[in-house]
Amino acid sequence: CGIVGYIGVKPVKKILIDGLRELEYRGYDSAGIAVLQEGHFSLFKAVGKLVNLEEKAQNYESTGFSVGIGHTRWATHGKPTELNAHPHLGQNSYVVHNGIIENYQELKTMLTAQGIQFLSQTDTEVIVHLFEYQLKTAATPFEAFQQTLSQLHGAYAILLVNADAEGTIFFAKHGSPMIIGRNRENETLFGSSDAALIGKCHEVIYLEDGHYGYASADSVALFDENNNPVVLRYTPLSENK
Ligand code: GLU
Repeated sequence: CGIVGYIGVKPVKKILIDGLRELEYRGYDSAGIAVLQEGHFSLFKAVGKLVNLEEKAQNYESTGFSVGIGHTRWATHGKPTELNAHPHLGQNSYVVHNGIIENYQELKTMLTAQGIQFLSQTDTEVIVHLFEYQLKTAATPFEAFQQTLSQLHGAYAILLVNADAEGTIFFAKHGSPMIIGRNRENETLFGSSDAALIGKCHEVIYLEDGHYGYASADSVALFDENNNPVVLRYTPLSENK
C-alpha cells in the first residue's frame, strides 16, 4: 500500500519509518523495513501500527552508507500476518510491492518446480524468487530485473535490493504510483506518494506506467516500457504542498 526507499548516509531506520508514517493515512495492516549495509541485510516486520515495527527495530541503528526499503501493507493475497508483511526475501535480495501480480500462481508453480521454497502466501514473493532465478543466467542484476518485469502481469510499484548490486535500488512502476526524489545531500529517495518525500527532497520524478530502472545515491537510470532510455525530468517539490 505504501512504499519508501532510501540510499545515503543518514540513519536509515528513522528515514524509512518517518516516510511510512506520512503514508499511514492510506491505511495498512502491517509494515516492514529492510536495510542493506556493507553486504549485510537487516529485516524487521510487524503486524499492526508502525509503533510495533519501531519496537521490533528499537535496537537497530545504522551508521554510514546504506540502502533501505520499507512498506506498509494492505493485504490482497494472504492474511495480514508478520510472515506476509513486506519486504519479502530471496537468498540475497529483498522486495517491496504495491498492487497485485495477476499471474503469481503460475509463476509460483514454475518456481516451486525448480525447488524454490516460498515462505508467504503473498503474490509479491514471486517477484524476488523470479528475480533470483533470472539472476542465475542473466549477465547483470539489472538484466535479471528486466527479465523479471517482462514476466509480471498486473499492477505494481516495486523496489528491489540485491546484495550483489550494493548501493543500488531497482524500481518499476506499472499501474501503481512511484516517485523518485533527490536532494542536495547526495541522497536518493523513493515514495509511493510525494507525501513521503516532502521536506526530504527538493526535486522529484513522477514515474509513468512502464517506467523502470535503477538508482544509486547520486544517479538514476530510467527506461520506458520499450526498454528505451528516458531523459530524466525532475520537477521541484514544494515544501508546503
Ligand atoms: N498484493 C500484495 C500483498 O498482498 C501487496 C498489497 C499492497 O499493495 O499493500 O501483499
